[in-house]
Amino acid sequence: MSGSHNIPFLDLVAPHRELKAELTEVFHRALDTAGFIGGPMVEELEKAFAAFCTTSHSAAVSSGTDALRFALMASGVQPGDAVITVPYTFIATTEAISQSGALPEFVDIDERTYNLDPQKLRAYLQTRCAKDSSGKLISRRSGRPVSAVVPVHLYGQCADMDAILDIAKQYGLIVVEDACQAHGAEYFSRKQNRWFKAGSMGRAAAFSFYPGKNLGACGEAGAVTTNDAELAAKVKMLRDHGQARKYYHEIEGYNGRLDAIQCGILHVKLRHLPKWNEQRRERAAEYDRLFAGAGSTIGLPFEPSWSRAVYHLYVVRTGDREGMIAHLAKAGIGAGIHYPVPLHSQNAYRALKYSQGDFPVAERVAGEVVSLPMYPQLTAEQQRRVAEEVLRFARLETPVTLAAGESH
Ligand SMILES: *Cc1c(COP(=O)(O)O)cnc(C)c1O
Repeated sequence: MSGSHNIPFLDLVAPHRELKAELTEVFHRALDTAGFIGGPMVEELEKAFAAFCTTSHSAAVSSGTDALRFALMASGVQPGDAVITVPYTFIATTEAISQSGALPEFVDIDERTYNLDPQKLRAYLQTRCAKDSSGKLISRRSGRPVSAVVPVHLYGQCADMDAILDIAKQYGLIVVEDACQAHGAEYFSRKQNRWFKAGSMGRAAAFSFYPGKNLGACGEAGAVTTNDAELAAKVKMLRDHGQARKYYHEIEGYNGRLDAIQCGILHVKLRHLPKWNEQRRERAAEYDRLFAGAGSTIGLPFEPSWSRAVYHLYVVRTGDREGMIAHLAKAGIGAGIHYPVPLHSQNAYRALKYSQGDFPVAERVAGEVVSLPMYPQLTAEQQRRVAEEVLRFARLETPVTLAAGESH
């Protein structure tokens, strides 16, 4: 197969080629005014992104990791707290928790959606936490007060927020959404009988504009969204050395601003995001169709009726993941693994003293997932070829976990 026929896992060149004139214009505008930090380009993006997320506020920051850290700090998480999240996410989720001074604690994911399992969250709060004499909820595992929960909208699909918000309310927990992969994803609340955008349901939410995300900067970038004006103001202080007025520092903050050029670039790209997300959904539906006959040999993404996912990634499962990736590589097709090792098994978190077997679903899923090429510019012909190779491989393989109980 010649190089020109290769299908990359991700194509970041094509979308930037299409937008080159508009993006260059942003750079000229910044050069002409030397407005590099703060100013109208930042405020315009914040307004537009808040409108996109249907929140009243957004604050542009230097990365998704900073967005999550600032969101946690501004929503009231205190040093010494415990914050609950999933072990099956990118490490930035737990880095942000640690950097806010809190300790991450894990609850396992749902086998079909790969997101926080609300039943397991409830069980954890009921059986692994207890109220102390002052009424504070204390984790038995760490002895720390549990103050927040961070559901991650993985692969571009919202976690089951009705249930999570209910449980959080019952236990007095702050909810901060990790929406870093979910720009524009939607969730249908059965409770409120309407659709919600990712990033509009918790106290605050964090988005990443890392280049490969559904909305990506030409560099590092992120944003916090919230419906709480005070919280937004706090994030804006945290990102700018704790000051709301130059050289008057209310708190000790950080250098976590997003520069004007990146804001201008993101504003240009934001106009294309609804179309790009629609194209991702179409491509996901096309993969679903192409794989429809594969039976139990490959596991497909599951989109509940209450979800409109934006397919940051299209992830399938197979009993022989390394085999499938090697087969695809030989056919000139790129693939990824998101994520091969759950966080509780990472060396970085040995001190948390979790063991293999603590989160069986995350562990099983982490051993079986393969992310296939997924981007708005992916052509029907490319998708047909990807599917052909996946199916060719799958038919050679004996299903392992996915067809458990089946005898041959
Ligand atoms: C990308 C990502 C982040 C971090 O975003 P950065 O902009 O890279 O700091 C956090 N959480 C999740 C789930 C992500 O995918």
